[in-house]
Amino acid sequence: ADAPADGWDATSDDAFAHAQAVIPGGVNSPVRAFGSVGGTPRFIASASGPYLTDVDGREYVDLVMSWGPALLGHARPEVVAAVQEAAARGLGFGAPTTTEVELVDEIRRRVPAAERVRLVSTGTEAAMTAVRLARGATGRDTVIKFAGCYHGHVDGLLASAGSGVATLALPGSAGVTAATAAETIVLPYNDLDAVEAAFAEHGDTIAAVITEAAPANMGVVPPLPGFNAGLRRITAEHGALLVQDEVLTGFRVGPGGWWGLEGSVEGWAPDLLMFGKVVGGGLPVAAVAGRADVMDLLAPLGPVYQAGTLSGNPVATAAGLATLRLADADAYAHVDAASTYLRRAVAGALVEAGVPHALQWAGNLFSIVFGEQAAAEGARDYAAVQASEHWRYAPFFHALLDAGVYAPPSAFEAWFVSAAHDEAALGRVVEALPAAARAAAEA
Ligand code: PMP
Repeated sequence: ADAPADGWDATSDDAFAHAQAVIPGGVNSPVRAFGSVGGTPRFIASASGPYLTDVDGREYVDLVMSWGPALLGHARPEVVAAVQEAAARGLGFGAPTTTEVELVDEIRRRVPAAERVRLVSTGTEAAMTAVRLARGATGRDTVIKFAGCYHGHVDGLLASAGSGVATLALPGSAGVTAATAAETIVLPYNDLDAVEAAFAEHGDTIAAVITEAAPANMGVVPPLPGFNAGLRRITAEHGALLVQDEVLTGFRVGPGGWWGLEGSVEGWAPDLLMFGKVVGGGLPVAAVAGRADVMDLLAPLGPVYQAGTLSGNPVATAAGLATLRLADADAYAHVDAASTYLRRAVAGALVEAGVPHALQWAGNLFSIVFGEQAAAEGARDYAAVQASEHWRYAPFFHALLDAGVYAPPSAFEAWFVSAAHDEAALGRVVEALPAAARAAAEA
């Protein structure tokens, strides 16, 4: 039966059963389907601060936070007010607005390497545009990406991708032409020797190296010290561009994203950056940014075409601007402290239950890698994460969910906290952890 026309008082079970008949897999983005942890996804009715409420009336401490955007917590009143005010002035005009320029100025203030910024609606679009720009700027075709990094569902970047591709253990995607796949070289993460070797062999055909600034789509696998700086050096030596994907890390791990924690300290900058998630405060805004001479190749100034009906949408940019303006030093300090507290609590519970693991973190993002090998040496790349005891995650996740804690529904995703995660919310997670750790131990 179809959903009733007005007011659908469904349970999550009913909603998912019907959704599966009308939406592939019942979800509009694969990781939402609980594919690797099993069970019925929760249909969410509302969210506030650190809490989600599902249609069944159950409340959860949220550790996904919309997969990153909700840095300040859900439905922060000032952000909701900014959205309501913008919406009342009109939902979109297909003509420029001053809000877009204000948002871009805020991005440039935080990340000076973003000399020019083009707003788009999703991280996928930002990746598409960055790759096209790199090809347009260099006249070369090949792109290097790293196994386990995710840059959206761009045809050429799905090979050995993280996020849902990792969760569902897919090699890539059907529907990508062999010709497109052949234009991507996939290398192991954190392996500068492999990058040197690829450039030695194919250097004059490589347009760009694209990498997550700190990968968090194969779980969190932080860059080894000097890895990003090494990519900067090698790409510059060979006339290729360095594209740092900060869709997930940007404006989340600190005011200047991962670059603010690393590049700004070490004194290097990428040619192009990608932003998303926090930059839209929960609405669809993403961005490609970088060197003026490269960015100015975009239409209407240059020959690299890119466009979007919804790009720079006034309601979405109002949400992003309000979010960034509230994301001050105090907010980041709170998110960092909450993340550290939680990370230690998770590690403590797992140690107590005798579960070998590594707690891997990059800034305020973290994830668990289960197993003796990870405990001994950590996981530096996708192969190590895949070789881990990731099957311990499903029972761990469900024990948390049963106790009212909504952790990421995949071992290959980062955990997210927000400026709204207070003692009460974190306390509920800490209470739920021992039973979850025991469930992981018994798996
Ligand atoms: N890059 C990274 C690092 C991401 O984490 C994501 C989304 N999780 C994307 C790109 C794609 O962004 P979107 O889902 O908005 O297309």
